[in-house]
Amino acid sequence: MTETHYPGHCHCGAVGFDYATARAPEEWSVRACQCRFCRMHDALSTSDPAGRLAFAHAEPDQLQRYRFALKTADFLLCGRCGVYVGAMIDVGGASYGIINTHALDAAPPDMASVGAISYDDEDIDGRVSRRAQRWTPVVPA
Ligand SMILES: [Zn+2]
Repeated sequence: MTETHYPGHCHCGAVGFDYATARAPEEWSVRACQCRFCRMHDALSTSDPAGRLAFAHAEPDQLQRYRFALKTADFLLCGRCGVYVGAMIDVGGASYGIINTHALDAAPPDMASVGAISYDDEDIDGRVSRRAQRWTPVVPA
């Protein structure tokens, strides 16, 4: 299948990504993580283990990395406009990421409906291995 590219940016355009997936939007896994950070941002996450994700920032100086809780992943925010665009984790020399679908330049109108998910019961090993399996491989911009 051919990949479609879905670019996304923060509100002011300083930080962003290019998400590439062959999965049709109605088959995306769209997750409303119930952790406090994601609820405060009203974030919706998606990823595709068979896709590719490149974080590319027009103004790299504005990129803010935020770690919390188990501190296994970097949550990427714009230092100017404050928008949360996605997160990435390094596992065994590879990187995997998710995007916040609210940061897509144009969200597909037929995007799958949202599932609410809580990961509170995970330990560090469980969290890291889940992300390595389900998140999108991160490639250079
Ligand atoms: Zn911004």
